[in-house]
Amino acid sequence: MSTTGQDVLSVRDLRVWYGTERGAARAVDGVSFDLRPGEILGLVGESGCGKTTLGRGLLGLLPRGAFVDGDVTFKGKPMPAVASKEYRALRGAELGMIFQEPMTRLNPLMRISEHFEETVRAHHPGVSRERVRHAALEVLRVMGIPPTRYRSYPHEFSGGMRQRLTIALALVLRPAFIVADEPTTALDVLVEAQIIKILADLRREFDTSLLLITHNLGIVSEACDRVAVMYAGRIVEIGDARQVFRSPQHPYTQELLRSTISLSTTGLSFIPGSPPDLVDPPAGCRFHPRCPHAMRVCATQAPVPLEVAGGQRVECWLHGPESQVPPGGGEPLHVREELSVADEA
Ligand code: SF4
Repeated sequence: MSTTGQDVLSVRDLRVWYGTERGAARAVDGVSFDLRPGEILGLVGESGCGKTTLGRGLLGLLPRGAFVDGDVTFKGKPMPAVASKEYRALRGAELGMIFQEPMTRLNPLMRISEHFEETVRAHHPGVSRERVRHAALEVLRVMGIPPTRYRSYPHEFSGGMRQRLTIALALVLRPAFIVADEPTTALDVLVEAQIIKILADLRREFDTSLLLITHNLGIVSEACDRVAVMYAGRIVEIGDARQVFRSPQHPYTQELLRSTISLSTTGLSFIPGSPPDLVDPPAGCRFHPRCPHAMRVCATQAPVPLEVAGGQRVECWLHGPESQVPPGGGEPLHVREELSVADEA
């Protein structure tokens, strides 16, 4: 990972919400983080916590009816408006996206060579076919796809190879920042391992920064430099991936890790309840109805983000200065026990 230069991406208080009949659904609600050149940041959390909305919001790929607010700086300059000419010039050339299902990106009627020509010419009209071929073969080499397949059609590739093709397409213009949304979900374990290795190698070959959205904590521990844990539209813990896995500080991160199956798993564990309704989330800390450590203060006041001993930034009253907890606020809330009983009923 490059350690010099400014952050590629700086996100401050980003909010994305959708209008619904019941009110605004706040899918991303005040998210802040930075991404350095060549850094891979894993974004984890249960379904419905806002991970995909955050990734798509950063690339201007939100559906109609989404509202966005906050400051996003890309390479030291404010990100241009999504509808602007400047933004269209950035997308693809400087910003890329790798989707979960490769066939959503590949046209079955077009040869791979045509996909590359279309992608490159969208930003460099008039560039020769030979120059496109040269650039494409370079990224295909990194993806382990032989040059003899350059004129093939997508259906002539296996699922894993198709995903490698979409990564090659996302990389051909050498973007500075890529969002990969569950890029290995549809793949078997062996192919998944290959893709993870490729993603981890990207920084060496291209110095690309990556936001890797995944449910798979094993992937994060292998491929990511840092990890951000998202719950109900907010990043509740962010820090060095190894440090967070070794010593998770937020109760939600602890529960998430506990509920992950690994080779040393001896029993199944799950987090009782489900992520909250984003139209009407719980007051105070949004995790409090499910948190085994909830205190009275958690039910009424939202914790502020604080840096803790391991260097993580955590949003939890357990880590706030005791002086900030109002009198009586530190008493246990015992919501979790009630919730477990209700779940079993
Ligand atoms: Fe649990 Fe309270 Fe921390 Fe929220 S703030 S995670 S409810 S202890």
